[in-house]
Amino acid sequence: MDELTQTVSGALAAVATAASLAELDEQRVRYLGKKGELTQHLKQLGQLDPDARRARGAEINALKEQLEQGLAARKEQLEAEELTRKLWSERVDVTLPGRRQAMGGLHPVTRTIERMEAFFESVGFEVVEGPEIEDDWHNFEALNIPPEHPARAMHDTFYIDPTTVLRTHTSPVQVRVMQSTEPPIRVICPGRVYRCDSDLTHSPMFHQVEGLVIAEGTGMPDLKGTVVDFLRAFFERDLAVKFRPSYFPFTEPSAEVDMQCVICGGGGCRVCKGTGWLEIMGCGMVHPRVLEMSGIDAERFTGYAFGMGVERLAMLRYGVNDLRLFYENDLRFLRQFN
Ligand SMILES: [Zn+2]
Repeated sequence: MDELTQTVSGALAAVATAASLAELDEQRVRYLGKKGELTQHLKQLGQLDPDARRARGAEINALKEQLEQGLAARKEQLEAEELTRKLWSERVDVTLPGRRQAMGGLHPVTRTIERMEAFFESVGFEVVEGPEIEDDWHNFEALNIPPEHPARAMHDTFYIDPTTVLRTHTSPVQVRVMQSTEPPIRVICPGRVYRCDSDLTHSPMFHQVEGLVIAEGTGMPDLKGTVVDFLRAFFERDLAVKFRPSYFPFTEPSAEVDMQCVICGGGGCRVCKGTGWLEIMGCGMVHPRVLEMSGIDAERFTGYAFGMGVERLAMLRYGVNDLRLFYENDLRFLRQFN
């Protein structure tokens, strides 16, 4: 019996220092397995007489239980250590800075067009687009600019062939609308236009938004109200606006719209060349010949139209002083509009 007690205390010592779960299991098999030392002792009980067997059996079972407890305790300990090791090796440092996604933003010209569309849609206009490669008839003739008309010189046109051009304005879109739609018409046409011209304030490609309203009895007061409401909404201030007589082949009467300088508030500055006023768009009542050429009864309907440069509005709204910045794709510039 002493021998067995010693064996078990040796086993308990080995269990307590087992370095891994595998090593621990070796100890279990060695003592409690089918051929384990304790198991062998239990098997030999049968050879004893009943009284001795009972006493000896109780002793061996007590030792077995002691060993099982030792094994369970060490197992729990080793598993806890294993878990700690795993947590440590897979730890996440929540104080590290995150990996950010670089977010893009809308180009200032796109933002400006969207802002203009939002205003006009809110007052009942529909947004219409058309082709950038146009035929001479839609770009010029249907707008009362026949081949020998001096106004053609105002448009430095890119010709693809003698009868095909890169549109010099978005007005041909309005012609297409007039040809295909019964009045009343209430549209704006945003888009790219092209002219061979390039310097500080001109780019060979730029954007326009033109508007067209055709209805019975519409006139200059409606045009004036729409333009003034738009400018005040776009610049978010109560600007002074004036209409100055002008000339366009496709409108009669025609006017140039000046607004109070948004940079100096009318006091005079470099941007308004000291005048306090900025030219902001052209407009007028649609020429009856233009209505007729697109198949609209000019006796019954009247119309007004207006057109403006998107880049100019964007420059004034965001305080950009060089048109070319819009097309250089310099992220330092573009990020300021995110
Ligand atoms: Zn000014």
